[in-house]
Amino acid sequence: MFIEVNSHTFHEEELLPAAAILQSGGICAFPTETVYGLGANAFDEAAVSKIFKAKGRPQDNPLIVHVADSVQLADICIVTPLAEKLIARFWGGPLTLILPKTDAVPRVVTAGLNTVAVRMPSHPVANALIRLTGLPIAAPSANLSGKPSPTRASHVVTDLDGRADCIIAGGDCEWGVESTVLDLTVTPPAILRPGAVTKEELAEEIGEVIYGTGVGAPKSPGMKYTHYAPSAPVYIAEGPDALERVYKAASGYQNPGILYYRTEQPHLPVSISAGSTPAEYAARLFYALREFDSRGVDVIFAIPPEAGGMGDAVRNRLFKSAGFKTIE
Ligand code: AMP
Ligand code: MG
Repeated sequence: MFIEVNSHTFHEEELLPAAAILQSGGICAFPTETVYGLGANAFDEAAVSKIFKAKGRPQDNPLIVHVADSVQLADICIVTPLAEKLIARFWGGPLTLILPKTDAVPRVVTAGLNTVAVRMPSHPVANALIRLTGLPIAAPSANLSGKPSPTRASHVVTDLDGRADCIIAGGDCEWGVESTVLDLTVTPPAILRPGAVTKEELAEEIGEVIYGTGVGAPKSPGMKYTHYAPSAPVYIAEGPDALERVYKAASGYQNPGILYYRTEQPHLPVSISAGSTPAEYAARLFYALREFDSRGVDVIFAIPPEAGGMGDAVRNRLFKSAGFKTIE
């Protein structure tokens, strides 16, 4: 089933068929403010297993459970005082919290961990859909495992047409990178994945916050897999003479592409602008990586944003998409 809605003016009745699919054990892709998600009833093991199969996602990479209110939250995790503080400031929004799980959450959702990742989206369609089902919805990003996350409905169709029971198309995602994942079961709290809620903002609210080892190694099992990779290899070029080095490296290729940021417009066959702020970069990054693929480039060069704030989230995704390859 394919349902197209206007995320600003839709009526909840338009989502009822999708809610029914989720209630009866199906999987449904839907827009959120970060990226599109592929959801299933978090309490239904068989339904959640379908997500892993549809994405080709490794079983040991746990899912985020999405809720619409605090009653649902109490069913799936233990809400600590620190969590309450962060929830009051940042929910609904792009912040996922790792908390101790309740017995109600099946192992398939958490990949056997005794913690669960929880988030409340701000996106009106995601929110309404979860409320209509009356269920917590386990949902990773709605892409094939390893590919760039989907920030437009067309990306979801490309990856999951015929693999999902339902796709809700609701326009472009506002943030464009996945949620910040914060582990509240360790002291000090550790960011396992940087996102639109920044380290600086979190520290303002709860004091010391650190980046987990390698941003994600031990506690975020998903991080060991290839991520966000377009078909063409990606190389990162940083520093004042980055463009010069890109031109040099590009001379060995037929159809090189560049994702440029705060430089003059490069003279390469395929040049895509990443905007002029880290937030614009975030909103365009996954779109751009997929666009390079559809324009058939044989290599992608990318000029990253500076570190700090949302720049950290963009750099994290970009370096992973490049497999950490840089040109000197
Ligand atoms: P995705 O929904 O595809 O963006 O991936 C969800 C991210 O959250 C992955 O990086 C997971 O490894 C991470 N995650 C989910 N649950 C947990 C958990 N209980 N502990 C640590 N990381 C988690
Ligand atoms: Mg993902």
